[in-house]
Amino acid sequence: MRRILVAGNWKMNKTPAETEGFIEAFLPTIAGLGRVEIAIFPPFTSLDRAGRLLEGTTIRLGGQDLHFETSGAYTGAISASMLVACGCRYVLVGHSERRRLFGDDDRIVRLKLEAALSSGLFPILCVGEGTEERRRGDSEGVVTDQLSSALDALDPERIVIAYEPIWAIGTGQTATPQIAEGMASAIRGWVSSRFGGEAGGRVRSLYGGSVNPDNAGAIMGEPDIDGVLVGGASLDPAKFASIVRSGVSVGGRDV
Ligand code: PEP
Repeated sequence: MRRILVAGNWKMNKTPAETEGFIEAFLPTIAGLGRVEIAIFPPFTSLDRAGRLLEGTTIRLGGQDLHFETSGAYTGAISASMLVACGCRYVLVGHSERRRLFGDDDRIVRLKLEAALSSGLFPILCVGEGTEERRRGDSEGVVTDQLSSALDALDPERIVIAYEPIWAIGTGQTATPQIAEGMASAIRGWVSSRFGGEAGGRVRSLYGGSVNPDNAGAIMGEPDIDGVLVGGASLDPAKFASIVRSGVSVGGRDV
């Protein structure tokens, strides 16, 4: 069974106090919605407080990034074991903002995936093409190249893959459900051809890029899409809860 995952990437937003306010407002709105897995990704400075507040709830916690080294002279960096110690289960790896603004290239993405897996975290690997690549008709090639360099021999079933076209992130220009499904199916096909049909059927594949309460249901209704990675709309507890409810009607996929 591939369970639907609704994940909220808060990026550089919310202090610890604001994180607490969000969790207090959000928890009652999703009480009893057990069929969907929910994860939030606050900034590092809020993780410890969020981890304590979420203890005993069904909501998972994730880090937005990690360093691939385990410790040492890496000013400003956070290791996988530090995320685990705050209660994280997930970590985002290869988000397009990390690739574009912080120089995370394919080698670094691969090292981060390895570091996450060896600490017991479940990485969410973000892949996606830019506007120009889509215009040239290269979308699938870009995504499969990113998958090839990141996954290679890594166990794809421990990794969630999020298709996040760069042109859709934070722009309000969501991919149509058909475009999102087409790429989710291509990703599943790539995993099947590289790791076997069983792995292809079991790997979870998310869509991210301007997801909101109005479009989430149609996107999660597509057969190869197992949830959404939400940026802006995840900052508002009511909007995020509404997206979660859209996922509840889908529930999960029998594979
Ligand atoms: C993201 O940053 O992962 C994202 C999908 O952002 P938004 O929903 O704001 O487009």
